[in-house]
Amino acid sequence: MAAIRVTRLAAMNTHADSALQRARSAMDDLGVDALLVGPGADLRYLTGYRALALERLTLLVARADGATSLFVPELERARALASPLPDVVEVVSFAETEDPYALVAERLDDGGRYGVGDRLWATFLLHLQQRLAKSEWVTSSTVTRHLRMSKSPEEVDALRRAGQAIDRVHEQVPSLLRPGRTEAQVGREVADLILAEGHEAVNFVIVASGPNGASPHHETGERALVHSDAVVVDIGGTLDGYCSDCTRNYVIGAAADGYTEAHAALEAAQIAACNAVGPGVTAESVDAVARLALRDAGYGEFFVHRTGHGIGLEEHEDPYIVEGNDLILRPGMTFSIEPGVYLPDRFGIRIEDIVAVTEDGCERLNTLSRAAVPV
Ligand code: ZN
Ligand code: ZN
Ligand code: ZN
Repeated sequence: MAAIRVTRLAAMNTHADSALQRARSAMDDLGVDALLVGPGADLRYLTGYRALALERLTLLVARADGATSLFVPELERARALASPLPDVVEVVSFAETEDPYALVAERLDDGGRYGVGDRLWATFLLHLQQRLAKSEWVTSSTVTRHLRMSKSPEEVDALRRAGQAIDRVHEQVPSLLRPGRTEAQVGREVADLILAEGHEAVNFVIVASGPNGASPHHETGERALVHSDAVVVDIGGTLDGYCSDCTRNYVIGAAADGYTEAHAALEAAQIAACNAVGPGVTAESVDAVARLALRDAGYGEFFVHRTGHGIGLEEHEDPYIVEGNDLILRPGMTFSIEPGVYLPDRFGIRIEDIVAVTEDGCERLNTLSRAAVPV
């Protein structure tokens, strides 16, 4: 059975339209002949299509010269056509017994330079490389990274709405934290609240109590909360395609020895790092501000990770706020500022806000008080 080709003339997706245009001019600049992108954030960015990651190939082929085809299995055709694809995207569906790689290769020239999706499964890439043996391969992020880092006002607004939604979840966390309840119980209720406050998906829920808080990526466990516990709650979801991510700290009853001082030092470091964010400064200089503040307060060795990560369609993306990243921050970049202090066997503390670089500084997209919340 021959592949069915449908040229779509439906509702325009203006964001993706302009994203595709910007990608084409970046491809020109970088000498990339086409992007070959599978399900994931780059595909959503370029086309608006939220594809399922399947064992069958789904692949956007966006050529620098403008021809743009989305290859989908027959059974995904209806979903693809129902999504708000830019009208330049031709949908090509293939039957179960057809060889999709042959169809893809028809659209490309062996010997080209192709930007393949950073997260395209190896099985798909190996098939493509067989068909296009003389071609050169780079990652699609070579092209999309700089585009996706500079958020449009609409994208910043989506992140602002996601930030407000996760803030509303944090406001309800104190009522869930009671001695005797386990982290896992609290975590399930927090996940429900993340959805109830408007997210379409829960991305992660960290409820790390007492000594568990000293492990930055502890999720939830069977530990029951006890009096005097410090609890790190780091939560995030996806709202209208964009991610939220916010950490606050809660204390059940009287704080443990040293907690109040450590929290005050961390709060000062987080505020200083937020204040350091603005156009023209480097990512690593923001990291250094948080790091020096904690070092001067005596906690330097207990801050064991970078200060932040970019956020957008993905919960972790460029730019990374880390030593060694001399990227210059620009308006529209969005990332977390989340220094932490982790005292082994005692407690952990992390304060995390998402910020957006503005023309003259930054805007916090989480606007909760940073103080530890007594419960
Ligand atoms: Zn993390
Ligand atoms: Zn984060
Ligand atoms: Zn987080």
